[in-house]
Amino acid sequence: MSETRVERFQAQLRGELLSPGDEDYEVARKVWNGAIDKHPDLIVRCAGAGDVVHSVRFAREQELQVAVRGGGHNVAGWSVCDGGLLIDLSPMKGMRVAPGQRTVQAQPGLRLGEFDRETQAFGLATTMGGFSDTGIAGLTLGGGYGWLNGKCGLACDNLLSVDLVTAEGRLVTADVTENEDLFWGVRGAGANFGVVTSFEYQLHPVGPVLGGMVLHPLSKGKEVLQFFHQFSKTCDDDTSTLALVTTTPDGTPAVAIAVCYYGPLAQGEQVLKPLRTFGPPVADLIMARTYVEMQSLFDELAVPGQLNYWKTSLMSELSEAAIESLLEQGFKRPTPTSVIYLQQLHGAASRVGPTDTAYPHRFYHYDCGIWAIWKDPADTDKCIRWTRNSWEALRPFFEPFVYVNVLSDDVNERVRTAYGPNYQRLVALKNKYDPTNFFRLNANIKPEAVEL
Ligand SMILES: Cc1cc2nc3c(=O)[nH]c(=O)nc-3n(C[C@H](O)[C@H](O)[C@H](O)COP(=O)(O)OP(=O)(O)OC[C@H]3O[C@@H](n4cnc5c(N)ncnc54)[C@H](O)[C@@H]3O)c2cc1C
Repeated sequence: MSETRVERFQAQLRGELLSPGDEDYEVARKVWNGAIDKHPDLIVRCAGAGDVVHSVRFAREQELQVAVRGGGHNVAGWSVCDGGLLIDLSPMKGMRVAPGQRTVQAQPGLRLGEFDRETQAFGLATTMGGFSDTGIAGLTLGGGYGWLNGKCGLACDNLLSVDLVTAEGRLVTADVTENEDLFWGVRGAGANFGVVTSFEYQLHPVGPVLGGMVLHPLSKGKEVLQFFHQFSKTCDDDTSTLALVTTTPDGTPAVAIAVCYYGPLAQGEQVLKPLRTFGPPVADLIMARTYVEMQSLFDELAVPGQLNYWKTSLMSELSEAAIESLLEQGFKRPTPTSVIYLQQLHGAASRVGPTDTAYPHRFYHYDCGIWAIWKDPADTDKCIRWTRNSWEALRPFFEPFVYVNVLSDDVNERVRTAYGPNYQRLVALKNKYDPTNFFRLNANIKPEAVEL
């Protein structure tokens, strides 16, 4: 790269351009997972869609590898590159809620907590994930499981339109009438087709919720998880659940059932009664909370900068044998912070047709994650080994599918199982919008000639 060309690029930008040695470079290259340590040649901290257009054109011309970052939560580190250009969208945090229409325009640098705080000022919300620090961009573009999925569908199901900079450096809009094929693709495989610079979402009235978790000793795990499955499978659309093999703050191994009910609170008391009386639990942390509080329930578990490795699959039946195997792995967790989780998808999210959006897994299931979290690099081998061994032990009980946003270093062999019946159509879309595979640091759909 010639210095003059870099200077000309810099002069076109509204945002900052950083290179190694600059004061903010070290902070800017870090992502949420402390196990990822990559060094881009340049980091452009975009101030708007114009900066994204210039960045894409510059990277094309200079034949640079690009990484695109929203919230930086991808566990495999796809939102940062070694060498090349990092297109960092994190400064782009603009939002405009239209309370009358119950819609919002939101930029891709927003974290879930920021998004929720703004929409909740108007008593509105839409489905987002369960940790307030996660980025709305990557989460929505891959699907977006969250507490409202039973009633409102996934985050991607609430998308009304996107503005996107293509691999040619053109800004286009995609919605149900314009570039419909692209709009289909961004709802589940969005990172493959361009850089989304603006999202428009449908919002829903969401008041205080009844939510939190109940805790049981891990030794009671079998009955608790059997109950969890029965309760979850039969719950209404207003209720969504998540189970976690974890450790309580006083160091006791536990099974937690977390829940969020977002209908009328008095009715919620009745709906959640069986969950709160079963056992009984050793702790009941379910209470009326603001939706913003509910969205932060697990924040302490996923502190940025810790070392993380996970391997996940979908599970639809929690048989006795599956529960026994899951608990056996739960007892072997390598660090107290490591967890096994089961995040439910049901209701409205499961009633969309599997080929209606690029995200395809429209059946009742849990996203089951074996998630090692550790601080000391000396624990790395042990933590990765536990994750892989546990996933192998649970493999007979998994569906042959995976949720794209929680793929890991196994992405190449598993990307087809993330898209199932939609894979070939996505390849055709990739041929059309990104035939040179310019956007490839993602769950990559490789372009090739295909017949639909
Ligand atoms: C602690 C934690 C909790 C999580 N909880 C949930 C949950 O409850 N529900 C759920 O569904 N998922 C959850 N996830 C997974 C989450 O959806 C993904 O990690 C997601 O990619 C995060 O989005 P991000 O913007 O932070 O990601 P990034 O790491 O910034 O990006 C992820 C991918 O998307 C691409 N990308 C980012 N922004 C754009 C853009 N604007 N245009 C085009 N491509 C872009 C990147 O290039 C990269 O390939 C969780 C992850 C973590 C680490």
